[in-house]
Formats: sequence, C-alpha cells, structure tokens
Amino acid sequence: MRPFLPGSTLGILGGGQLGRMLALAARRMGYRVVTLDPSPDSPCGQVADEQITAAYDNPSALRRLGKKCDVVTYEFENIPAASVKRLERAGVPVRPGSRVLEITQNRLAEKRFLNRIGVPTVPFHEVRTSADAERATRLTGFPAVIKSAGGGYDGKGQAVVRNRAAAQAALSVIKARPLIWEGWADFEKELGVLCVRSLTGEVATYPVSENVHQDNILYTTAVPALISPRKAAEARRMAEKIARALDIVGLFCVEFFLLKDGRLLVNEIAPRPHNSGHYTIDACECSQFEQQLRAVCGLPLGSTRLTTKAAAMVNLLGEGKGDRLAGVEKILVHREISFHLYGKTEAKAKRKMGHITVRRESVKSALALAKLARKRLEWVR
Ligand code: AMP
Repeated sequence: MRPFLPGSTLGILGGGQLGRMLALAARRMGYRVVTLDPSPDSPCGQVADEQITAAYDNPSALRRLGKKCDVVTYEFENIPAASVKRLERAGVPVRPGSRVLEITQNRLAEKRFLNRIGVPTVPFHEVRTSADAERATRLTGFPAVIKSAGGGYDGKGQAVVRNRAAAQAALSVIKARPLIWEGWADFEKELGVLCVRSLTGEVATYPVSENVHQDNILYTTAVPALISPRKAAEARRMAEKIARALDIVGLFCVEFFLLKDGRLLVNEIAPRPHNSGHYTIDACECSQFEQQLRAVCGLPLGSTRLTTKAAAMVNLLGEGKGDRLAGVEKILVHREISFHLYGKTEAKAKRKMGHITVRRESVKSALALAKLARKRLEWVR
C-alpha cells in the first residue's frame, strides 16, 4: 500500500489537546489537517486547516470529513465506534481501526482481550446487579475499584470501595451498566510505555515512564522510570506483544501497575497519543505525535530515543480561579524548561490546560524543577 505523503489530508476525530499537538506535527511536515469536534474553536481546530463543528455521530459531518481526508485517526477513545465503522464502510482508511477502538473503549473487553493473549491484569468481574457485586466481593475482597465499563476517563465514573455499604452506594451513584469490579492493585509505581506499530508491522517502544496521579488525573511523568533494566525490558516486551495481537496501525500507550511483589499488570491501553508521552516533544528524537502521523500515513517510524539523560513533565490543570496564567516569564529563565498551553479559554477546575517539560541530568532533579516551576505559576482573572 502506498504511503500518504506530505500534501495529503489527515482527519482527526476529536479536537482536544492531543489532536492539537498531532495537527502541529502534521502541519510542520506539510500535511493538511481537518478535525471534527462538537465545540467550536477547539484546541485542535485552532491549529488545523479546518474544523467541522458537529457531533461525532453526525452522518453528514462524517461524510464531509471522509470526502476531505485521505486518512483519518482519532485522539479520544470515546468516539463512537459506529462513526469509525461508517467511515470505514465508505472506504476511508481509519487508523487505528474500529476493532482496536471497540476493544479499548470498554474496560471489560480490554481486560478479557489482555488475559486471552496472556497479559496479566488485576482480577476483575462484570457487575450489573447487587448480586453480581456480592459475588465479586467474595472473589476480590476489599478495597476494590468499581468503574463504568465504557465511557470513563480521568477517573470519571469510578469509585474506590472499602466495604459492602460503600459498594452498594457506588452501584447506585454510577448509573452506567455494565460496571467492572476490579481487585485492588497494591502498586509501588505506575508505569507507562508508548508503543507504535507501522503499516508494515514495524514496532517501536519509547523508554518506560513513571507516572504519578492525583485524584485519578496524571500529575507528573518522569523518564526513564527508576526500575531495573529487566523490568523495563519486560514492560516494553508486553507492549510489543499487545501491538501485534491488536494488529494496530498507530501509536498507543500501555499503562502498568508495578506491584510491591514485583509483578507487572496492565491497567489500560489508550489507542492514541497519551498525556504521559508529552515529554517526547521536547526530549525525544521523534515525538509521539510525529510518530502517530508517520504510522497512520504508512511512513517509516522515527527514533524513540531520549535526547537528554532524564525528563519530567508536569500537567497544568485549571483551578476555576481565573483563566490567565501568570508567572510564565519567571519559569522560562530555566533553559531546561519547555512550556505548552492548549488554547482553552476557560481554566475550569482539573481541566488539562497545558504542561511543562524539563530536561535534566537526573530524574530527581528534573522532577524537582518541574514541580517548583508549577508552583511559580498561578491562575489569575
Ligand atoms: P484508570 O482510569 O483505570 O486509569 O484509573 C485511574 C487511576 O486510578 C490509576 O492510574 C490508578 O492510580 C488508580 N486505579 C485504577 N484502578 C485501580 C486498581 N484496580 N487498583 C488500584 N488503583 C487503581
């Protein structure tokens, strides 16, 4: 199959920051970009050649997108799989395709797939009724985590439960069905591996990252993860195995729990560029976004090597206290810092507004500077 060369048009379902950074990489390399997103002036729409403003399942918008684009991808796994199938039926290449989307947008389907190919996860059970929850309690004990099987992200639609009463309460608060009941992962660290597979089956992984979450939202990422070379190789091998079994064309992220007993479990797979891979823009030979572009356009993959000894990324979340960020000029005196904002007008509480990447000689000092820089920034009216 011939590659889509510069001058071709890339379609992006979803107009968030991941689409924006993908569009920037694509435009730098001479591609045209059209995004489809329901909100006007989306972060991606601001830098794309064109935004189609419509719901993700709007048939005429999908038809227009398909007509304008040579190849389409998505930046958000809660795009309806039916929309991707509609484009595929119309003969538009969508990469990764609808099968990958269907597996990864449902936590039950995803974990069943992983276990089927021999990749370990936490023990889990499908829960629809109180009786199912009772059975799950006997199997995993407490604490446990109850999550909606589909549709959730950044900890939305989830509850950690420590006893039967809390589990019953969570069952009535989280309305979605089915739910997934997960056994507790007693983890020492959370790790991530970005992996990319090309149209010709070439697979590459980035260095393992160490991710810290606060309130279920990514707070910091640091690379390389401070783990043994053997564990790092094991995580990268697992990601490669998943890439082949998914038969994916494109970039994805595997999130892991490294348990206190040394076992590695996969928590989830995101079939798109990932927040924990933002550091690759400023600290790797080829960013996750360029890599995604190369894969979906059928080009050879780029290098995943770090260009620095260590890097750390800290997210800039909104706080609902004002929409302007003060203090940027203070942190930019550090030449190791790169600064990114996504063009969102309202800095609502916990909204991902931007990030900072620090390049340094050690993970410890990169993280320290990233956190210090974050403290020097303030949302103001
Ligand atoms: P998720 O949306 O599944 O990625 O969950 C968000 C975060 O919640 C994870 O990154 C973990 O920090 C925590 N978490 C999720 N599931 C579990 C689990 N089964 N055991 C322990 N912590 C979990």
